[in-house]
Amino acid sequence: MNFSSRLLSWYAQNGRQLPWRGKVNPYNVWISEIILQQTRIEQGIGYYYRFIDAFPDVRTLAEAPLDKVLRLWQGLGYYSRARNLHQAAGDIVNNLNGVLPDSYAGWLKIKGVGSYTAAAIASIAFKEPVPALDGNACRVFSRIFALKEVMDTGKGKKAFRELALEVMDEQNPGDFNQAVMDFGALVCKPVSPLCRECLFNRECLAFLQKKVQHFPVRKKKPAQRDRYFHYFYFYYPDQNKQTVFFIYKRTGNDIWKNLYELPLLETPDPLLPNDLTSLDWWKKFFPDGKGYTFTHAPVFFRHLLTHQKIHANFYAVRVNPSKTNTFEKAFEKTNREAFDALPKSGLTLRYLKTAGKAGKTGQI
Ligand code: SF4
Repeated sequence: MNFSSRLLSWYAQNGRQLPWRGKVNPYNVWISEIILQQTRIEQGIGYYYRFIDAFPDVRTLAEAPLDKVLRLWQGLGYYSRARNLHQAAGDIVNNLNGVLPDSYAGWLKIKGVGSYTAAAIASIAFKEPVPALDGNACRVFSRIFALKEVMDTGKGKKAFRELALEVMDEQNPGDFNQAVMDFGALVCKPVSPLCRECLFNRECLAFLQKKVQHFPVRKKKPAQRDRYFHYFYFYYPDQNKQTVFFIYKRTGNDIWKNLYELPLLETPDPLLPNDLTSLDWWKKFFPDGKGYTFTHAPVFFRHLLTHQKIHANFYAVRVNPSKTNTFEKAFEKTNREAFDALPKSGLTLRYLKTAGKAGKTGQI
């Protein structure tokens, strides 16, 4: 029995039961693949159900406001995925009459869809024999065949693709691709692979050469960049004694674009709380140095993103309502209920959770 038949028999007995499996609807496959990029399956399943419930097809997704899409994505991270999905749905409705592409080449033209996702959709939904090479698949191939190419380079991608094409089952490319992914996730795991019980342990070159931990060969990771964020919960009670505060929507080519957050000051280096009030940024809002009170100790979070380490302090500052003219020009005024309905980053959600604990950071 050859490699793909053995793998497919293993998959028939051990493959994961996932909500989008068994469906050949390209829309569902597309949504699941985008949600699962950089996301654990257990975390992605709930998002998948909520997303498909809210936007059961490409037209409902295209017609939805971006804020609604981002709000459903809240907490999942990598928000460009949601923005791209929304834009892609609009493009499909406007330029393709609402009909999803039916080929690998067609999917590659869709915003936010790379070669892995295009191959996954084309093979699962349209049985096109193209290998879907994610981290799991490359790890499996690199170990079994002792492939030393670095997988995230042009040369490496070509080598993995050629190898996968040679061994893939062309009659069942969707099952084959999913089988490789599941095998990588369940048996040939990144750390502590289950080599003793593995069905390929008699021919896996990395195992036979006792070099499993040397595969896959990776590029050196770029250094992580430190960023220093200072967020301000500028608040006051309005005439109805309801707490109001200020927020803004992030724009520009940076993380968390189109998400909402508290007013932010970013500095190139760490800053002591006492130094804040001498900065020009602060004086713009309080030119006479009056009209504010720091009401709680700052709350600190270290928040890790793929290439960034964010050191964030949140300050609760009660402001005098007569001094809020400049705030109203620079930011939007809101209250907790309205803020809850808007899309926010994971970091802001962490703060809101902490702030909800009695008296810790004020009334937010
Ligand atoms: S023997 Fe080990 S390294 Fe080789 S394929 Fe199996 S689990 Fe992976």
